[in-house]
Amino acid sequence: MQQYDYILVGQGIAGTMLGWFLQQAGQQVLVFDDARPASASRTAAGIINPVSGRRFETAWLYDMIYPFAGKTYRAMENALQISCFHERDIWNVWPSAQMRDAFAACPTPYSQQPREIRYAEELQQPFGAGIVKGANVQLGALLPAWRKTADVRTEHFDTEKLVLKEEGVEYENLRAKAVIFCEGVESPRNPWFGKLKFLPNKGEALIVALPFETTDIIKKSITLVPLDNERYWAGATFSWDYADAAPTAPARETLENQLRQLLKTDYQVLDHLAAIRPSGPDRRPMAGLHPRFPQVGIFNGMGSKGCSLAPWAADVLVKNLLQKAPLPPEIDIKRYFNALR
Ligand SMILES: Cc1cc2nc3c(=O)[nH]c(=O)nc-3n(C[C@H](O)[C@H](O)[C@H](O)COP(=O)(O)OP(=O)(O)OC[C@H]3O[C@@H](n4cnc5c(N)ncnc54)[C@H](O)[C@@H]3O)c2cc1C
Repeated sequence: MQQYDYILVGQGIAGTMLGWFLQQAGQQVLVFDDARPASASRTAAGIINPVSGRRFETAWLYDMIYPFAGKTYRAMENALQISCFHERDIWNVWPSAQMRDAFAACPTPYSQQPREIRYAEELQQPFGAGIVKGANVQLGALLPAWRKTADVRTEHFDTEKLVLKEEGVEYENLRAKAVIFCEGVESPRNPWFGKLKFLPNKGEALIVALPFETTDIIKKSITLVPLDNERYWAGATFSWDYADAAPTAPARETLENQLRQLLKTDYQVLDHLAAIRPSGPDRRPMAGLHPRFPQVGIFNGMGSKGCSLAPWAADVLVKNLLQKAPLPPEIDIKRYFNALR
């Protein structure tokens, strides 16, 4: 029998962050990930936006979780010898005079009025624009780089083969203290966690070529994130009502309409992506061990904010697993089990 401290199922941003902090704490970790191409983390642009809504409210816990996320991504960049964390201006093109005025009326530490207009030749912006200080994480660089250095098996994990013992778990010839499921949209089918409330939603995005370059994120009803060589990620749609995870013609039409309303230039669609965001009804992470079967745990519910939430939530989950530090009640899965009673 091969002995590990923890087995993780899934290596999206959730499994990667949990694996990273467990490794940092000296734990032996084995990860199973079946590497499906259309996972949320393999589709997302990794935007970190401090404000949201019509009142530009600062995101939940942002003042604490953003510096922590930045520190974590920088440490991973160093350890893995990659570049993946990019602090960027988010150039918000106002769709109306009301939004422009609301931005001016609701200042935050992250918002700025531009000194001069950018992209006069490239964008239609009759109501002007505002700057929000944000970032993006290139998950396409981070996830494969961590995977190379960690003990990751490109294999499907079959819950039917998992045996819960008094002290830990057995899976084929493996033994561990616990299995933590970081399996994204698969969790509703998980035998131990399937009864938790999930509210997944589908997102679609395009990869487009545009005839200009920038380091900014450009945002209107569609968001453009620079990739490389005049290629941009352009997304995303949001839908609770979907048949499957495949790209759809109506979503492409919506995205192209939004592009045409934003751009003065031509564009070329290079690719069309789609995935399901693993979300809960309260849009907070779901973390912790099962109250009756502490040999299994879950780390999920990142919703549309995996890149800002996962580093902090993984760190507190590791402190909970190793030092029995209490989990913040907003992310502790006890909130669901208490409601099920
Ligand atoms: C179109 C779109 C745009 C988005 N944009 C952003 C954004 O800009 N910023 C942001 O922060 N978030 C964004 N998100 C949300 C973000 O993608 C999610 O919050 C995050 O990726 C969820 O990560 P996860 O690790 O929980 O799940 P996933 O990324 O789904 O990872 C789960 C992993 O588990 C594996 N797996 C599942 N079951 C098994 C099994 N039984 N055995 C082996 N492997 C298994 C899968 O292959 C997968 O690799 C976006 C999402 C979408 C769809």
